[in-house]
Amino acid sequence: MSTVKFTKLFINGDFVDSISGRTFETIDPRTEEVIVRVSEGDKEDIDIAVKAARQAFDSGPWPRLPGYERAKIMMKWADLIDQNIEELAALETMDAGKLYHMNKMVEIPATANTLRYYAGAADKIHGEVLKMTREFHAYTLLEPIGVVGHIIPWNAPSSIFFTKVSPSLATGCTMVLKPAEQTPLSALFHAHLAKLAGIPDGVLNVVPGFGPTAGAAISSHMDIDAVSFTGSIEVGREVMQAAAKSNLKPVSLELGGKSPLIIFDDADIDKAAELALLGFLYNKGEVCVASSRVYVQEGIYDKFEKKLVEKAKSWVVGDPFDPKSQQGPQADRNQFEKILSYIELGKKEGATLLTGGNAVGSKGYYIEPTIFSNVKEDMIIAQEEIFGPVLALMKFKTIEDAIKRANNTKYGLAAGIMTKNLDTANTMSRSIRAGTIWINCYFAFESDVPFGGYKMSGFGRDFGLEALHKYLQVKSVVTPIYNSPW
Ligand code: ADP
Repeated sequence: MSTVKFTKLFINGDFVDSISGRTFETIDPRTEEVIVRVSEGDKEDIDIAVKAARQAFDSGPWPRLPGYERAKIMMKWADLIDQNIEELAALETMDAGKLYHMNKMVEIPATANTLRYYAGAADKIHGEVLKMTREFHAYTLLEPIGVVGHIIPWNAPSSIFFTKVSPSLATGCTMVLKPAEQTPLSALFHAHLAKLAGIPDGVLNVVPGFGPTAGAAISSHMDIDAVSFTGSIEVGREVMQAAAKSNLKPVSLELGGKSPLIIFDDADIDKAAELALLGFLYNKGEVCVASSRVYVQEGIYDKFEKKLVEKAKSWVVGDPFDPKSQQGPQADRNQFEKILSYIELGKKEGATLLTGGNAVGSKGYYIEPTIFSNVKEDMIIAQEEIFGPVLALMKFKTIEDAIKRANNTKYGLAAGIMTKNLDTANTMSRSIRAGTIWINCYFAFESDVPFGGYKMSGFGRDFGLEALHKYLQVKSVVTPIYNSPW
């Protein structure tokens, strides 16, 4: 088990107290007890962090290094993550209630690989040569946008940290990152490893604190050049408004989802039930792409429902450090209470509770896998993101019906389709308005596959070479050509 080493703000290469001297508690969702107190950043701390990032951008080495030099440091950081996997995995389990073995085997190694992917991109960022119609020659330069603000949530603290930090480092940007107040610990450990790897002072600043204070200070800052946000629609709206009211900095938003998994009659029922189970229970449903609406075609509905409920009943909820556990506690009390109130609402709305519906145990934020059937499209549990282990199971008849209902949402983050019919798969993937379509799979993420939303799930893309563009400016340079032979 990890003892927490880093609890202060990381600014300009040092761990420092906040100006106010205030600290806040971070709670272990398994026990509801305080793990440790963490320095609380506020506007003045963000100002100092932005000054450090500005200095590092305007006159530091980072943006001026050849790409391969930035890459070397990023690769070294990735190796340090690998060497510290157990400690990082444990921090993430204590702070966010995530499964230790999944952190260790999957999520933390993937963060190192995200860094490596963008390290590989760092020396391949270039513009284009353009042939104008008149006697001019033009080219574009891709320049780092400057000082970037990252505001991230608590459901996947390390993954999202590197989703944001890696491409912005590759482009030569400097940054201020605010982790969620529920889960500040892994971000501070990452900052420590960044320093060991040789990331120059001021390039990466990590300031834990609360949303309306430290978070708002980032989105409204006059000297931050771009903001990348992952979180709720409500806060995304505030971030965008603050950006608009201050210096009109570009914003990218990765917000929630109510992603449908659509299972056709010809799908492999066992595989479909496995995917549906994982789709709403992975990370206790605290996943923006959770398949929280499952539509099953009528021919296999009854058989599917039986299988899924059986599987959900044998799903193991328990201490996330125990390798037998498949689901840990929800990340915090707010979330725990919110999920339970959605479950009550589902019952009141008239949906049928097939399994689950209760908290587990008397201590910690554990909730049973919960499946509702007879869910109507306009019920709140079919429309709002619950962000917990709660599924709305629905029946459909035709492909047209499936398309209409899958798109009947304000969100558009992801969708899953299960069928053996290629035409069905192609029609569905072109008809659903969502940023990621998984065919006969789910949660198939990789650093090179762009990820982001349609509609109110946000805009801008994380991952892939796409993400680099959030952190780049395009400069067009034009010069006359005299006596051109062409
Ligand atoms: P979630 O619903 O996943 O908790 P939130 O959208 O509430 O997500 O929070 C995501 C991140 O946004 C957190 O780091 C939080 O502190 C931050 N945040 C909350 N309110 C604001 C705000 N008004 N301005 C900027 N950031 C905020």
